[in-house]
Amino acid sequence: MDNPRSEALFARAKAVIPGGVNSPVRSFGAVGGTPPFIARGAGARVWDVDGNSYVDFLGSWGPLVLGHAHPAVVEAVQRAAADGTSFGAPTEREVRLAELIVAAVPSIELLRLVSSGTEAVMSAVRIARAFTGRAKVLKFNGNYHGHADGMLVKAGSGAATLGVPTSAGVPETYAAETLVAEYNDLGSVGALLEAHVNHIAAIIVEPVAGNMGVVPPEPGFLEGLRRLADDAGALLIFDEVITGFRVAYGGAQARYGVTPDLTCLGKIIGGGLPVGAFGGRADVMEMVAPLGPAYQAGTLSGNPLAVAAGTACLEALAKPGTYEALEALGAQAEAGLRAAAEATGTALTINRVGSMFTAFFTEGPVRTWADAAGSDTERYAVFFHGLLERGVYVAPSQFESAFVSLAHTTEDVALAAKAAAGALGG
Ligand SMILES: *Cc1c(COP(=O)(O)O)cnc(C)c1O
Repeated sequence: MDNPRSEALFARAKAVIPGGVNSPVRSFGAVGGTPPFIARGAGARVWDVDGNSYVDFLGSWGPLVLGHAHPAVVEAVQRAAADGTSFGAPTEREVRLAELIVAAVPSIELLRLVSSGTEAVMSAVRIARAFTGRAKVLKFNGNYHGHADGMLVKAGSGAATLGVPTSAGVPETYAAETLVAEYNDLGSVGALLEAHVNHIAAIIVEPVAGNMGVVPPEPGFLEGLRRLADDAGALLIFDEVITGFRVAYGGAQARYGVTPDLTCLGKIIGGGLPVGAFGGRADVMEMVAPLGPAYQAGTLSGNPLAVAAGTACLEALAKPGTYEALEALGAQAEAGLRAAAEATGTALTINRVGSMFTAFFTEGPVRTWADAAGSDTERYAVFFHGLLERGVYVAPSQFESAFVSLAHTTEDVALAAKAAAGALGG
């Protein structure tokens, strides 16, 4: 691949930014090579600074369910910018976004807007601790909940990719407040709840895991978590930063019919700008300052540009047929990958929920972190570069999701399936 400009930019970037990137997985550490520096995007396509173009299945790691530079989002941001970019005072635009979210997500009666998924999770966990008067939090091996200290214990996504599932710089005393169970294994949850009676404030889970690659909840898993949390007097937190407005308009809780006490959102609700949110039961959310004693704040929270983009995105998603279209594109991508695996005799396990999917280089099935971790990451790296050379952009790590957007056409997906067959064969 001809990319002298990206190489020159990467060298410049490394001189001033650790690893040359502002989020670790962007560095291509797991797959090698120089990341293309992106110049622009439109619809399902991105162009790099060397003039190469790619059909994009990364979607900025999840937010871009409408594709790049969607006209409604661009117009909303331009109008908001012309009205002033930040006030540190309430605005109508943030109320509108909050109303859309409350109307859509079954568990959310009250919510607060923040600027990232990390902030949403950090705040939800604090509120759960304040509400229950307990310290410990139970999470799942391979689930990722952003980079707050207590959540960087056996975390997925970049932490798993870089082989540092538990980060340096997190005090042991603090990490000890985080208990880790196995995904899709209610027995492991029950055992921890029993061993720490009256000490667990919350169970936090990705209702569809996306950060160890896509791993759907097995039938009964989410229902079981609901029951176990209730029995233990703990809150149930769904981290729907990826799945919110992705696997259904109302998120995984609408799709699977299990209602948590608190929900974390991010990614799609910002339409490509920085927005997160945490919300849930009114009696729990009333713990948040200024109503209650749990402090939480943000200079740029509810930022006018960001909420304008998010509102435009949710309004587009609320139109009839959007989730059917995403399902059809996802199913086409899955079928294309299966055919490519079969034609080349490759052991691939494809997990998919709607428009999010992962092809794991393993016989499968993949239902836990241990299963996902058994994938052949070297083969993934070869596959990744094979796709990139053929003009298809996916996450530079096995332990991530691919996404289709409403901007993808059946031709885009067919092109990717052909590229996948080539990349697996070559
Ligand atoms: C991306 C992600 C986060 C963190 O969100 P940021 O905006 O990157 O801070 C948290 N939880 C899940 C499930 C995510 O996928």
